[in-house]
Amino acid sequence: MSGVPILEIVDLHAAYGRIEVLRGVDLIVPKGAVMALLGPNGAGKSTLTKVVCAQKEATSGDIHLGGVHVTDASPEQLARLGLCTVPEGRSVFPNLTVEENLQLMSYAGVSASAVMETAYAYFPRLKERRRQLAGTMSGGEQQMLAMSRALSSDPALLILDELSMGLAPLIVDELYDTVAGIAETGISILCIEQFARTALRVSDYAAVMSGGRIVATGEPDEILETMSDVILGGAA
Ligand code: ATP
Repeated sequence: MSGVPILEIVDLHAAYGRIEVLRGVDLIVPKGAVMALLGPNGAGKSTLTKVVCAQKEATSGDIHLGGVHVTDASPEQLARLGLCTVPEGRSVFPNLTVEENLQLMSYAGVSASAVMETAYAYFPRLKERRRQLAGTMSGGEQQMLAMSRALSSDPALLILDELSMGLAPLIVDELYDTVAGIAETGISILCIEQFARTALRVSDYAAVMSGGRIVATGEPDEILETMSDVILGGAA
């Protein structure tokens, strides 16, 4: 792990009311790497994502994105620095077609045709189904659609929150193959995931969260060997 990390989190704390949920999180995501963030339900993974994405305030600690101090940055500033997230749950418009969904994903600086081009390059299946209502597609296909907006912004760091949520293992495998392809283009990726084995298959590093702290970091094999009781508790 050398050079300026894409994401560096130091002694981060956050709370819901008086209950502290992040209790001194330290995490480094190296530039260009895929890192899996694993851990049991309630460990604080989603809260950490929210704080990093400026959807929730930290009580203390520091976050650097590509070397820039962003602890108090706005979502817009984070987006300008290349942070993009695909949140838990698939946020597509069910009564619009794939193509209409993609058209709505265009925004300042990125045209609808550019969004479509990126989406169809990563997910050829979306092109085949461009006239289908999004709500009638499989969960995996909807996830592909949800990922398309994030990819069209050419992010420096992509945060994927529970990509596998509610999907069949075969589809999850397929989505993670795409994650590996995305990583090959140089985009750094942080995958928050319950399906530990699947995420570890495409990851360069893994971090394990428990009780609001990172309790282990290392290479996937090492983490599987030493932390299997924590990370394989539920789905594997
Ligand atoms: P999961 O995989 O189940 O989503 P997680 O590791 O992402 O778990 P968080 O969702 O960050 O964990 O939750 C961490 C703790 O914070 C849990 O005890 C949870 O009950 C609590 N929590 C989460 N969101 C809120 C909220 N909005 N208000 C109060 N407590 C919350």
